[in-house]
Amino acid sequence: MSLSRLLSSLLDGSESDTESPSTPDGRSETPESTVLFECRDCGTNVSADTVRCPACNGDDIVRYSID
Ligand SMILES: [Zn+2]
Repeated sequence: MSLSRLLSSLLDGSESDTESPSTPDGRSETPESTVLFECRDCGTNVSADTVRCPACNGDDIVRYSID
């Protein structure tokens, strides 16, 4: 139930600052492959050093490697 409430709040756009964290110099560290970090619970994209989702406070962060 709490997850659906969080999703609706995200879709509402009221928390736009937590949905896309600004990391200006984070991209320069990716040499060849692109690595994405995403919250498994709510699907929010997070930065590489994020251990806890800023949107739902979950610590289940998954990593995707795109060659
Ligand atoms: Zn989350």
